[in-house]
Amino acid sequence: MTDTLDAPDALDREKALVLSALAATAWCARDEDGAPNGKALIERLMTAASWASRARRHRGLPSLSVAELVEQFTQPVETWLPAADEPEGAGSLVLVEDGHPTPNCEDLADDAGGSPLAEVEQNVIRAAMSHIRGRDDEAAAYTAFRRFLVEHATAHHADAVGALLPVGLEVARVYQRVPGTARTRTGRQEVFYRCPRCRWPMQVRDTSVSCLRSPTCLAAGARFALRDDSLVPLAKLAAPDPASPDEWVALHPGVWRFTVLPGLEELDLERRLGRIEGVDVQLWPFVDAYDLDVRRGSHRWRIDVKDHSSASSLARHLNDKPVTEQTWIVVPHARREQVPRLQRLVEPDAGYLFADANEMVRRIKGAE
Ligand SMILES: [Zn+2]
Repeated sequence: MTDTLDAPDALDREKALVLSALAATAWCARDEDGAPNGKALIERLMTAASWASRARRHRGLPSLSVAELVEQFTQPVETWLPAADEPEGAGSLVLVEDGHPTPNCEDLADDAGGSPLAEVEQNVIRAAMSHIRGRDDEAAAYTAFRRFLVEHATAHHADAVGALLPVGLEVARVYQRVPGTARTRTGRQEVFYRCPRCRWPMQVRDTSVSCLRSPTCLAAGARFALRDDSLVPLAKLAAPDPASPDEWVALHPGVWRFTVLPGLEELDLERRLGRIEGVDVQLWPFVDAYDLDVRRGSHRWRIDVKDHSSASSLARHLNDKPVTEQTWIVVPHARREQVPRLQRLVEPDAGYLFADANEMVRRIKGAE
């Protein structure tokens, strides 16, 4: 049954979805400086429309024109890009709401790679790595730097200087002022609110304050309403205290998206494994060859944590990067439905094994 997910028509649908997310993101940004515009925007929309049409043909549906595709951006994906089987991450996924890309849409677009956000992150990490290369404390310095970023999506300026100086980075390369879209007023004071999960400034829209660009933070409950100058929780996370934007700096979006969000899952796994008797965990060993090196007795596991919204684009990436030493790809428990798909889509000789975080913890607990 579920094998139909990996049939060519399911892959066409997923490609159509990712391209539509990229097109929808460009469409929403069409009036902004530096965004794809004119010919580049039309090309993106046409590519998405032709893949969406191709995926629709597998279901016996008519083609979509560019104008029709743009209309669908605000409609649930299942209604215009139906899946043969249950869609990944079920529920009603919409690409655009109130003229803005939804968190799931941005996530799909970011995952597609080649995004300018990913480039910013890679440049920062590369600059730090080349600064410390060859030093005696290279591995320790790299791990401390990486851990600081994950734990400080917002930081006091002096703390940021202290953490970035040892890896040769200026604060302005990594952090920026708290953006205007995260600021609001209580009484006469300008304030912002840090996300209780990732600590990045939450976005303010009218009376809503939320960690808008992270589907995982939203699902964890990072959603609040502004009422009478105070924050009211709309889900199970308690409201954070207001902070002054003059006293804090916030990570550039690319570093937040590609270092902090996956990093939170990596630190969580490190914490859980560290509680198991006889287990030795090293984070980001050998300057980031993979994420966690775990040893227990004579056993050893190399673990890479992957928090991608598309299992098939992750599978493509892994097939392009085979490893010589067996490596476990661990997905967050919330994405556990990706495990059987990855097992089918990734070539057996690429060298990877797959588990969700809970299963990985169980396996290591069970190993003698
Ligand atoms: Zn968050």
